[in-house]
Amino acid sequence: MKLLILGGTGEARDLAARLLDEGVDVTSSLAGRVARPRLPVGAVRIGGFGGVEGLQTALAEFDAVVDATHPFARGMSANAAAACELTGHPLLRLERPGWTPDPSWVYADSHDQAAELAADLGDRPFITVGRQELGRFVPALAGRAALARVVDRPELELPEPWTLLTSRGPYHLEGERELMREHGTDVLITKDSGGTYTRPKMDAAAELGVKVVVVRRPGGPGEVETVNDVADAIAWVKGLR
Ligand code: NAP
Repeated sequence: MKLLILGGTGEARDLAARLLDEGVDVTSSLAGRVARPRLPVGAVRIGGFGGVEGLQTALAEFDAVVDATHPFARGMSANAAAACELTGHPLLRLERPGWTPDPSWVYADSHDQAAELAADLGDRPFITVGRQELGRFVPALAGRAALARVVDRPELELPEPWTLLTSRGPYHLEGERELMREHGTDVLITKDSGGTYTRPKMDAAAELGVKVVVVRRPGGPGEVETVNDVADAIAWVKGLR
């Protein structure tokens, strides 16, 4: 059994490690977006496949696929669904649940809408949506003293009043509280990534009375069998053998 894990998440790394322990031949795939990715154990390939067609070709070396990409990496998930449909490879989607909504959080359907909402809610936004989406916040928040936290520096030139912070989770409540206090954050913007790595900022915001804007997850490929945790993904893989 040769399994391809589409990764880039903590769950994908966990899955690769646990399946290797079970003797499964696993290759993890990363997009190559960040300069120094956290590498899973076992075989790793890095870089895009070249769309559905490229993935279809690459699948000749594998028997099954687990798509454990980030909940906002919908392009890769759509390609995996399309390619596996064409080749007949079994495909499982491993997707961590979103955060349980807090009644005080304001939800947005897009990053653009989140930017507009944040502009109405505060003057000192803390933007934690990732480098790729940062540009979407410039039009609405260019004049605000925003703090933008990303893993790698974005190519885009940031507005003069913005402060860029490069760092990578997991984060802790104390540090998040301190950071928001220092910056004087009055509105936090995040996407509904779920999980524990980035959750402490939500708890710090609640403690400090900071408003929270959450970008809703985009819809995924409809028909793909989906599990929410690594143990269920392992059971699915074992069921294939
Ligand atoms: P995306 O928009 O869904 O994918 C765009 C293209 O990047 C895909 O069509 C594919 O290129 C390539 N790609 C994406 N994930 C890949 C993977 N695991 N292995 C090989 N190629 C991959 O993806 P994204 O939102 O840019 O995310 C890129 C990676 O970062 C994903 O692996 C994801 O798990 C991770 N990540 C994303 C976020 C986020 O907020 N989006 C957060 C944390 C981690 P080809 O068409 O050439 O195959």
